[in-house]
Order: sequence, then structure tokens, then C-alpha cells
Amino acid sequence: MARYVYDFIEGDRSRADVLGGKGANLAEMTRLGLPVPPGFTVTTDACRAYLATGAPPAGLFEEVNAHLREIEARLDRRLGDPVDPLLLAVRSGGRYSMPGMMETILDIGLNDATVGGLAARSGDERFAWDSYRRLIQMFGHTVHDIPPEEFAHELAAVRATAGPAGPSAGQLRDLVDTYKKIFARHVGHDFPQAPHEQLFLAIRSVFASWNSERARIYRRQERIPDDLGTAVNVMAMVFGNLGPDSGTGVAFTRDPATGAPGVYGDYLADAQGEDVVAGIRNTVPLAELGRLDPVSFRRLGEIMATLERHYRDLCDIEFTIERGRLWMLQTRVGKRTAAAAFVIAAQLVDEGLITADEALTRVTGAQLAQLMFPAFDLTGAPEPLAVGVGASPGAAVGRVVFDSAAAAAATGPVILVRRETNPDDLPGMIAAAGVLTSRGGKTSHAAVVARGMGRTCVCGAEALRIDSERGEVAVGDRVVRAGEVISIDGDSGRIWLGEIPVQPSPVARYLAGELDAEADPLVAAVHRLLGHADAVRKLGVRANADTPRDAGRARRLGATGVGLCRTEHMFLGERRSLVERLILADGPAEREAALAALLPLQRADFAGILAAMDGLPVTIRLLDPPLHEFLPPLAELTARVARAEALGEDPGRDGTLLDAVRRMHEANPMLGLRGVRLGLVVPGLFAMQVRAVAEAAAERVRAGGDPRPEIMVPLVGDVRELAAVRDEAERVLAGVDGAPEIPIGTMIEVPRAALTAGEIAAEAHFFSFGTNDLTQTTWAFSRDDVEGSFFGAYLERGIFPVSPFERIDATGVGRLIRLAVAEGRAARPGLTVGVCGEHGGDPDSVAFFAEAGLDYVSCSPYRVPIARLAAGRAAVAPTTGTSDSR
Ligand code: ADP
Ligand code: MG
Ligand code: MG
Repeated sequence: MARYVYDFIEGDRSRADVLGGKGANLAEMTRLGLPVPPGFTVTTDACRAYLATGAPPAGLFEEVNAHLREIEARLDRRLGDPVDPLLLAVRSGGRYSMPGMMETILDIGLNDATVGGLAARSGDERFAWDSYRRLIQMFGHTVHDIPPEEFAHELAAVRATAGPAGPSAGQLRDLVDTYKKIFARHVGHDFPQAPHEQLFLAIRSVFASWNSERARIYRRQERIPDDLGTAVNVMAMVFGNLGPDSGTGVAFTRDPATGAPGVYGDYLADAQGEDVVAGIRNTVPLAELGRLDPVSFRRLGEIMATLERHYRDLCDIEFTIERGRLWMLQTRVGKRTAAAAFVIAAQLVDEGLITADEALTRVTGAQLAQLMFPAFDLTGAPEPLAVGVGASPGAAVGRVVFDSAAAAAATGPVILVRRETNPDDLPGMIAAAGVLTSRGGKTSHAAVVARGMGRTCVCGAEALRIDSERGEVAVGDRVVRAGEVISIDGDSGRIWLGEIPVQPSPVARYLAGELDAEADPLVAAVHRLLGHADAVRKLGVRANADTPRDAGRARRLGATGVGLCRTEHMFLGERRSLVERLILADGPAEREAALAALLPLQRADFAGILAAMDGLPVTIRLLDPPLHEFLPPLAELTARVARAEALGEDPGRDGTLLDAVRRMHEANPMLGLRGVRLGLVVPGLFAMQVRAVAEAAAERVRAGGDPRPEIMVPLVGDVRELAAVRDEAERVLAGVDGAPEIPIGTMIEVPRAALTAGEIAAEAHFFSFGTNDLTQTTWAFSRDDVEGSFFGAYLERGIFPVSPFERIDATGVGRLIRLAVAEGRAARPGLTVGVCGEHGGDPDSVAFFAEAGLDYVSCSPYRVPIARLAAGRAAVAPTTGTSDSR
């Protein structure tokens, strides 16, 4: 028969799926012999059964009763006994921690009869009546949705008339009467007196709280699946509100903000847990407990050390002291900031608790990315105006604008403030320093698009009442008008009025070589963990760089080569006119003259990059985009020609250009005349580029350098395309004196290339996956069109969990990659295979590429450290590879 209930002494932390995180860790602490009040856990299976049918599974309550009787026997105290009543806490707790999202009911078992027993046993009549009123309030709120203010209002009235020592026992007894009336008025019947009925109703409502609105919103934001359900922990109450020698607190075994060693926490004397939240009195720092109750404080320190050694990680705990006796109520591996994650991982290695390999699994590429962003300097910063959801990291400051057109027209930095965004807002989002919305979470349109373009974004700031027509936003009674300056933090979601100063991140400064590795504990930790990642990783990390400056920067950030040097950027600016000459060339002589003019310019470009990457490979891609991208836009030319004609003038060169643009117009340029196709139909173009590479390399050799260029052909779909380009290229290379061997390889970025990789490998010295185009062509997505239009809806509906342009689609696109790697290497053993799409800098994708056996990834320079770390993680923990985000 299915079992739905486990005593704390039966479970352990490996069973969080069934027992929930809280239950599994209560069980673990019980097994460690730590002082945990006895109790048991009702499993998540029971919750799922309840959620599916609306009723608890058959036999559940009998099972609960059986376990309850064991606890009663152990404590020699019974639920409902009017002389010496057992009281219970009923606590939610799912697989993943969802702090404060679900329900807890304390003091179950109190009624008109047992309240007297509690008073007699504790010798404290006020405490007994106060506990009873707490029960009615929590139970009324949780089980029957009675607004807590109704009770709080009455409590405040009694407190106001009470003396400095607080309400008397008599006042509290009267208050219980008032509470019962409120309860009966709302619910239509009296507060249930039968303790077992209280217990079962509490369990049911904890089950139901899994689907409360706030729990659902939280899960969506944190990407926690909706079908897990919560466990319910039922345990004996201990009382922190029994006088000055009692109290309750929370603590971390190290500082969760900075990772600094030493316990860290808050304590509240003579209180129950919910009082801390209610903020009735101020908590004191945990160190104060050392003065109030040195014995418990010392014991607590020992327990925290035990827990850290046992979990080999930062733990957070909840505890209660009842008349000088310490009880543990909760522990878990504690959440921490990105900075603390690095610092703590390094400390734990020093303390011998974990290995350097394990330390790598304790930090993520996403955390490193976060630490590289500039951050607000919050010393002396005002209170935030409001807090939303941090959806795309960064620190942005700017003037408020309320529509896309205003953002696009603005001169200085602006923050685009919208209720929510839609595709029409795209130009404004591109122009703005940051985006702020009052609706939607991490998968809203604003969040997806902002992350895609690396724009800072805070969304879902519900406290904002935005009136775009009037050009103002109200928060409480403060009204912010268009043009006022605000600051938004894409990590924490905080929003401030005015300009908060921004400081460069010490981690970024260290990575750029501006700061010493020993500068501070965080930088030292990053230095050590990255060093270890470099030592263990098998995946190389190169950079996408088109200029000597970017190549140099990438090299300082740890890149061991350039995986993608785009040549199209070298055809812009003043060189545009040379490209125009090439396109408009009338006959071979004119074309050759145009190419001859471009040759020395290209050669100088390549020489610079080869110098910056001396001794390391530089993969140079031959021209990829359609040529008409280098001509003026059709609309502009049409207007210019029309104007000339209206004035009766000869449009001259514009007329010729317009004819060319019309002739070359394509409905889908992305699928048109580009890449290798250009090389095959524009005579001499690729040959000129290849000659420039070879001559630049020869020049570097003569200068004593060690150039390692590689030539890469884009958009190949058939081996014959590559063979033709390679033949021509090799003829050119053979004619350049003093050049080193130059490998010729291809991009794999259309499905046909992946599907025929075995054939293509016969002609290619190397492969490089262009995952941006491969994603577009595999899905039939035009990125520029789809990201702004329906990606938000797709993410919202869970059609994909993350944009396939952000994280490689391992099942679809990834399958093509695996196939091409296998067939390519079968045809040409030792074939070098890399990736040069943006996915090369995404930690989860890097893990996939490592597992797929690639030789290197190439990414934008500033992502190089992130890729190095991710590659190291992939090497030490291949199975956790795809879980960087949690
Ligand atoms: P959350 O998951 O929101 O933290 P908990 O289940 O931890 O909710 O309960 C909230 C508070 O209730 C705890 O911090 C603790 O102070 C109090 N509490 C829980 N269990 C007991 C107990 N057995 N005895 C006394 N107080 C308890
Ligand atoms: Mg808790
Ligand atoms: Mg491409």
C-alpha cells in the first residue's frame, strides 16, 4: 500500500522529492541527533493526490493518526488532553524553497478546554490565552481566508488600553471571545474545538496553498514546475514566547551577502516566529544572544558548525529557545548572492570541506556574468521608490520616457517606462538605457527582448501606476513625471528616484588586468576558481573579434584565439564607396580595379588582428552578408532620385545605384545571395580576401611574428560549393611567398551542411558551427522578426522554456550538431570542431558543447571568462551540465 507519512527519524535529506526540502532536512537533523521537536512529514504524493481529486487520498488520516500516537507516546502528552495538551505546528514545504509563499499554522490543539491545561502546565495564563488567539487568527486566515487585519485591528485596540507590561490574561481571554465572533461571522460556524479536526483542516489547507496565486506567480518566476506539490510537516510545538529566557531567531553560518566568515543572524526574545515577520518589536543581532543566554548561544554555534561540516556548505537555520532550551526548527543550504557564492566556495576549499572540483560546481557562469556588470554604489543611497522583478541585469540611470518614439528621439540616456511592452516598443527599447514595466514577470515581452539585447530591465513593478497619456507614474503619493531621472537595478529589481552613482565591478577590472588578484576576497576567489576551471577544462575558449582592439581585449580575458573574425565590418565607413564601385563595375577591368583598391585595406586589417593574437589561431570568415547591404537603402535612393527628377536634374550616380538596388532586391535576404554563394558568383571577391590574409600573414612572418590565420567559408550547404572556393583559394595561397600553412574550413550553419557533414569534411580542415543561423534555419525563424513578435507568448505558454537564441536547443539544433560532429570526424579523424554563434557564451550551451565533444567555443570578448568557467564546470560535473540556472 502506498505510504503517505514518514516520521522525522525515518527520512533523510536525499528524499526532498517526497518529503519536501524542509521535511527532508528536519529528518536529516533528527538523524544527526540535533534537538528537533518530534514530528512527521506528509508526502508530496499525498498533496498531488489531493490536488488531482480535491480530497485527501484514502487512508491518509488513519496514517497521520498512527504517527501522531507515536509522538504522543514519546512525549507522554496527548493532543486534546485538557490537563497536559500536546500542541502542533503544521508547516508547508515543497521540493524547492518558496519562502513565505505557502502556509504554516501554529498552536494546533488549543480549544476552550486545553487552554486551561496549557496555562497550568506553563504557569503562564497570559501565554496560554495569547497562544489561543494566535491559533484562531492563523487558522482563520489560512483555512478560511479571513483578512488578518480584522484580527489585527482588535489586537491593536487591546494593546492600546493595556499597561506597559502588555495585555492582562483577562484582556486576552476577552480577545479570544472577540476573535471567535469574528471567525463565526466570516465562516458561518464556530471555531472548531476538536483538535483532530483542526489538524486535518490545517493539512488540507496547506495542500491547497500550493496553488495560491502568489505561490503560482513565484513558481513561474523561479521556473519551479507547477506539478510538484508541497509536503506537510506536523511537529510538536516549542515556545519562544514563554518569557525573557525564551525567544526565536534565524541565522546563517556565514554572511550570505558577502560570504564573510562568522555566524550572522537575528534574534527576538520572548517571541514566536511570526512576530519577527510582523515586526512588532525589533530583532537584535545574533551576537546579542551571546549575552542573553551564553549557554544556548554556544550550543547554537556548535550546531551550526556541525551542519556546515555535514552539508559542506553555507546553511541557514531557524531556531527557538524555550526557557533556556534550544530547538532546531529548520535548516537548508542557504541562498546567497553571486559574490558570496564565489567567496564561500573558495573558503570551503581552504577549510578542507570540499575539493577544488566541487567548488566549481558551487558557482555558475550566470553568477560570474552578474559580477561583471557595473553596479550601483549604494553607500548613502535613499530607500528605493519601488521594487519589481530583476529581469535583465545591469545598473541603468536615465530620464523617464513613456513611449518608444520619445525614447528613440532622446539625446541623453533614458529609461523607457511602460505598463508592458509589445513589438511596437522595439525601437524605444533599443534606444533606452533600461526598460521598466509594471506588469509581467521574467518571461514577459519586455524581459525576453531586453535580455536578448543585453538591455537592463526591471519588470512587474506592481506598485507603479503608469499613466502614459498624462506622462506620469505614481508610486504611493509620489508622482514622477517624464524627464525626471530614475535608476533601476536589473539584478535586485530595485527602482530609485534620482541618479545613483555607478561603479565598475572589481571583478571586471580584475579580469581586464586593472586590478591585482589579491585585491579583495571576491576577486581572489574568482581568480582561484577560474584558474581551476582553466586547469580542468577540455573545451577551448576563443573570441569573436573583428578588430585588433577587441582581439587584444579578448586575449587579456583569457581567449586562446579568435574563432570568428567577420570581414563585413571592414567594408563599411569610407570603404563603402569602394564596395559600390565593385558592385557597379562595368566589366572585368573596373571590377579588378575596385578589388585592387580594397586589397591593401583588408591586408592591414588582418595584419593588426594577427599581431594582437600572435601565436594563436585566428579564424577569418570570408564575406557573408548580401552585397546590397552595403548600398544605400532603397527608400532613401528612391526619394533622392525623385527629388532630382522633380527639380528637372539628372540623378546621376544615384540613378545607377537605384537600378542596382532594384536589381539586387531580395524578399528574404537572409536566404538569398550571401555567404559562399557570393564567392561563387562575384568573380575575384573571395580571391582578394584570401590574398589579403596570406599577404598579411607573410608580412607578420617577416616581422618575426607567429601568425596562425585560418580561412572560413560561410553558409556552405554542399561540398561542391566548398570545393570550388577551396580550389581557387589554394591557387591564390600558392602564389604568395612566405605565408605559413593556412587551413581552410567551413561554417556549419544550414541543416544541409550538418546532414552531409561527412562529405563536407573531405574538403574542410575544420568545422565551426554558426549556431545563430543554424537555429534560424532549423526552426525557420527570422530572428529579427520573431523575437519581438511572438517569442514572449511562446515563453509564456511554455513552448520553449528559454529562447533558442539564448540557450542552444539541445534536442533539435543540438541533434544536427552531434550528427555533424560524428560524421565529420568519421570522415576526417582529428577534425577540429568549434562553435562561433552567440551560444558560445551561454553557460548552459557551453555545457552542451563540451558534452558533444567540441574542441572550442567562441564568444564575444566579455563573455570569455563566463565560457571558461562554464567549460570548467562541464569538465568536473558533466551530468549537472544543463542546470546552470538552478
Ligand atoms: P516558512 O517556510 O514560511 O519559513 P515555517 O514552516 O518555517 O514557514 O514556519 C514559520 C515559523 O513558524 C518558523 O520560523 C518558526 O518560528 C515557527 N514554527 C514552525 N514550527 C514550529 C514549532 N514546531 N514550534 C514553534 N514554532 C514553530
Ligand atoms: Mg521557515
Ligand atoms: Mg551565419
